[in-house]
Amino acid sequence: MDLRVKEQDALLKQTIQRFVDQEVRRAIPSMEEDQFPFELIKKMGSLGLMGIPVPEKHGGAGMGMTSYITAIHEISKASPSLGVILSVHTSVGTLPIVKFGTDDQKERYVSDLAQGNKIGAFALTEESSGSDAGALKMKAVRDGDDYVLTGSKMFITNAGAAEVYVVFASTAPDRGSRGVTAFIVDGNTPGLTVGKKRRENGNARYEHERTNL
Ligand SMILES: Cc1cc2nc3c(=O)[nH]c(=O)nc-3n(C[C@H](O)[C@H](O)[C@H](O)COP(=O)(O)OP(=O)(O)OC[C@H]3O[C@@H](n4cnc5c(N)ncnc54)[C@H](O)[C@@H]3O)c2cc1C
Repeated sequence: MDLRVKEQDALLKQTIQRFVDQEVRRAIPSMEEDQFPFELIKKMGSLGLMGIPVPEKHGGAGMGMTSYITAIHEISKASPSLGVILSVHTSVGTLPIVKFGTDDQKERYVSDLAQGNKIGAFALTEESSGSDAGALKMKAVRDGDDYVLTGSKMFITNAGAAEVYVVFASTAPDRGSRGVTAFIVDGNTPGLTVGKKRRENGNARYEHERTNL
């Protein structure tokens, strides 16, 4: 292993342990009361923790997956909830756009996500489809320059707090899981509503939402 990477990881671990001791522990009671930790997210953004594995050219810290896992591990030891918020934001809210987004989508979303100016979410699970994700029922129908997404999701971590959602919907129901497409949906899209919170995470509901292509 490259010694510089090892040193970088050790430094990151120290930074996170200090952050956990000084900031995270005292915020746990309010998180236990279902308050979303917006202040912590802002601080994590300024520490570069909201985009650890995101390339520097997209506003991230440009570190490797080992560093990212170290961060999730250290934070989750103190607060599993904050660990899930960060991992969903990064692994499935931000990295799919880095890997599969168009240049325009990367420019529009990634640096704000990687710097913690925006929070990301991932909306796949539905009431009747969990592990069998290809059986999802949300439909996406093209309407001129838009797609109209109709259906609802559940167990969506960061729902309501997130400004950027990676949402899965079927554009070709006759093709089963091969007819599923991922859309990026802004949190303020008209028609997107967030249902009652569950104790463990959010529960997002989407009705007749429109998203620009
Ligand atoms: C903390 C947390 C955060 C989450 N955040 C998100 C999120 O941000 N976005 C999102 O979309 N979803 C999220 N989820 C939902 C999660 O992805 C689903 O819970 C998961 O896909 C499983 O679906 P399910 O709960 O419906 O269980 P099911 O799919 O009904 O599975 C129930 C049980 O059956 C087993 N099982 C299922 N199929 C098979 C099979 N073919 N063979 C053998 N065993 C099987 C499973 O292993 C499991 O033990 C979150 C869940 C949790 C707990």
